[in-house]
Amino acid sequence: MGSTIIDGRKTREAHVLELVARIKQLSFTPKLAIIQVGNRADSTSYIRAKKLFAARIGVNVSHEQFAETISQDELLRSIKKLNESEDVQGIIVQLPLPGHIERDAVIGSIDPSKDVDALTPTNVDKWMEGKGIMPATARGVRELLAFYKVDLMGKNVTVVGRSDLVGKPIAVMCRNEGATVTVCHSKTVDLVAGTKTADILIVAVGKPGLIKVDHVKNGAVVIDVGISRIGEEQLAGDVDFGPVSLTVSAISPVPGGVGAMTVLAIFENLVDLCAKKL
Ligand code: NAP
Repeated sequence: MGSTIIDGRKTREAHVLELVARIKQLSFTPKLAIIQVGNRADSTSYIRAKKLFAARIGVNVSHEQFAETISQDELLRSIKKLNESEDVQGIIVQLPLPGHIERDAVIGSIDPSKDVDALTPTNVDKWMEGKGIMPATARGVRELLAFYKVDLMGKNVTVVGRSDLVGKPIAVMCRNEGATVTVCHSKTVDLVAGTKTADILIVAVGKPGLIKVDHVKNGAVVIDVGISRIGEEQLAGDVDFGPVSLTVSAISPVPGGVGAMTVLAIFENLVDLCAKKL
């Protein structure tokens, strides 16, 4: 029997009607403000995906793009304006930022009640305890696993990657859902030892082909969060999909896996933030 393909687009479709219904129940049209500094191609394509999805579900998006050379003070002033604007319910600063700008100062300046990415210290403290909204990738992974009836409770989960934006929130989410969690990273001496025992292996690194058949337990569930651009058009995950898919019980592809769910989760977070204002 072949493995189940964990399909992020299909799962997202299953959530869209409910999200649209929740948006219609609001007494206003929500607005998400996206700030971009510079013109990285990957950031531009992630923003395009958010705008397309927003248009489909009836959410307004404003996109302010600043030159790579913008000063930190100027950026902070633009965030302050968005914090104060009654028309804006959600703010995203597209990461990464150029080196001369302190990420923590910029993120920390976002009003936590508009922090759709859940990255401000106030919101991080909350999701660490399983409260409030959580970063979109972690929420997307949770909803993907739930749709495919993969229960985290009591499972051995290994998360490869520990970034503040992706790996760490996913690991915390899994722990909060009752899993026993191992976290591997670039300093892990024996990656195979960390991944091979996992019932559920979640990989968020950004290195195509890092995870091979030898890293994965037979029958495991594998979630590939990594997205790397190969040439102009092609996207690749971190998992050697073809061979690994023959040995696991279920696996998410790239593209068509977690990425679609992350976009959904951003807007679910936005609507959660709006609903608290009703
Ligand atoms: P990041 O900040 O560069 O973090 C990468 C993580 O991988 C770090 O924790 C790093 O360890 C670890 N790592 C690097 N090389 C490794 C190795 N050889 N073995 C084990 N671990 C290794 O990247 P990120 O922002 O977390 O994003 C990770 C990936 O997810 C990227 O491909 C990104 O494009 C993708 N992504 C996907 C979505 C989605 O919706 N699907 C959303 C966001 C990001 P150290 O901490 O020791 O440096």
